[in-house]
Amino acid sequence: MNELLKKSATEQSKALKNKEISAVELTTEALTRTKSLEDKLGAFNSFTEETALNTAKKVDEKIAKGEELPLLAGIPLVLKDNMNLKGSKTTASSKILENFVSPYNATITDKLLTNMVPIIGKANLDEFAMGSSNENSAFKKVHNPWNLNKVPGGSSGGSAASVAACDATLALGSDTGGSIRLPASFCGIVGMKPTYGRVSRYGLIAFASSLDQIGPFSRTVEDAANLLEVISGHDEKDSTSLDIPVEHFAGHLNDDIKGKKVGVIKDLMAEGVTDDVAKAIENAIDTYKKLGCEIVEISLPKLKYSIGIYYILATAECSSNLARFDGVRYGYRTSNPENLMDLYTRTRAEGFGPEVKRRIMLGTYALSSGYYDAYYKKAQQMRALVTQDFVETFKNVDILISPTCPNTAFDLGAKSSDPLAMYLTDIATISANLAGIPAMSIPAGFDKDGMPIGLQILAPQLQESSLFNFAHKFEQEHDFYKTLANI
Ligand code: GLN
Repeated sequence: MNELLKKSATEQSKALKNKEISAVELTTEALTRTKSLEDKLGAFNSFTEETALNTAKKVDEKIAKGEELPLLAGIPLVLKDNMNLKGSKTTASSKILENFVSPYNATITDKLLTNMVPIIGKANLDEFAMGSSNENSAFKKVHNPWNLNKVPGGSSGGSAASVAACDATLALGSDTGGSIRLPASFCGIVGMKPTYGRVSRYGLIAFASSLDQIGPFSRTVEDAANLLEVISGHDEKDSTSLDIPVEHFAGHLNDDIKGKKVGVIKDLMAEGVTDDVAKAIENAIDTYKKLGCEIVEISLPKLKYSIGIYYILATAECSSNLARFDGVRYGYRTSNPENLMDLYTRTRAEGFGPEVKRRIMLGTYALSSGYYDAYYKKAQQMRALVTQDFVETFKNVDILISPTCPNTAFDLGAKSSDPLAMYLTDIATISANLAGIPAMSIPAGFDKDGMPIGLQILAPQLQESSLFNFAHKFEQEHDFYKTLANI
């Protein structure tokens, strides 16, 4: 393996500018490593070699002419396979879209291509991003690069495993209830969910539209900040995208945080948190104290309802969003239907996997007349209260911290037959989606078996720069991020 693959995007950019390596060489190295690991990791649904090499060639031409390079030009990146790249397959790891070819680019894809970021492939995920372990893919499971018998976390498991294994330097994931932060935590890398509306969702296959947000994976905080800068911005093709200027998020990484207030969410430090995870968070608290922050214990009393609220709202929205997969307009169609109803029902019965069907049924039930007020409306009201909890809390603290997950990566198969146990994995991450606030997971240590532990940091809406600042300060105090999976 080329040692440069282990470096951050910032360091790789320097190497490109100094002509230590060409962009075509770097992309080729990344593709070679990715392919050689695929049997072990199962992280990729497809490779987009041609697009990647064409982009890399353009970078080399620019370098040869001595021109300035756009941010992250030439840095190998993988897209979660629920985002469109024109002319390549977008499957959402579902049989129903197995042969679906994207007719257009997602807005984030256009932005990546404008910045000349080589897209090397499409990463495996839980079907339609529904899951916490990446075991719900219709094609294959993703394995954790730190221990191949363990899950990488989901639903963006392929994206996270790829960056943790140093085959891609960067990746994009989508986060509806934790799908960027959980795999980042299980794979020992940085994963960030922006403020709702910061990044356009145009060209992302919708799961739960009021919660979905695209965000970066990387091995350093600075790289995540730069990737967010590349993909964010107003988009008239997404009515929920915010009309605010793009910031240089890495501009405040080194700001002094002395005297700032760090809230520790005590509700997430209680029941179910393993000793190793608790110790790592205590250690994080000490780090922030050392950096001169004031530590405040915070209670978010509504947080315990977040999983219940989420599984009503997310399933309701997905039952509506996934109605479009009917055998007529997209992807898979059953053979020899007897009539239109038979076409719909058999296509969906054959095309969707068990978890997706479970969610469609739950959501349809929650939205049905007679139950709408009791479930959907009530959940919306509770969502407003959870959001209010955060608004009030952030009047007194600058950021909040917690474990990203009460435990580290579990064994493949350990929770597959118990959906409720699987849902509970997201106890710490879901509330940020309900409230629309930015949140991230950064490496914070290892458990006794050497599996990574994630620290979650949450900030008020639109305070991404502050979030990256606190994350970077923590990162600089430790070398967890320098320890790489041995694969
Ligand atoms: N694990 C959660 C779910 O299964 C979150 C998924 C996500 O963020 N896409 O719904």
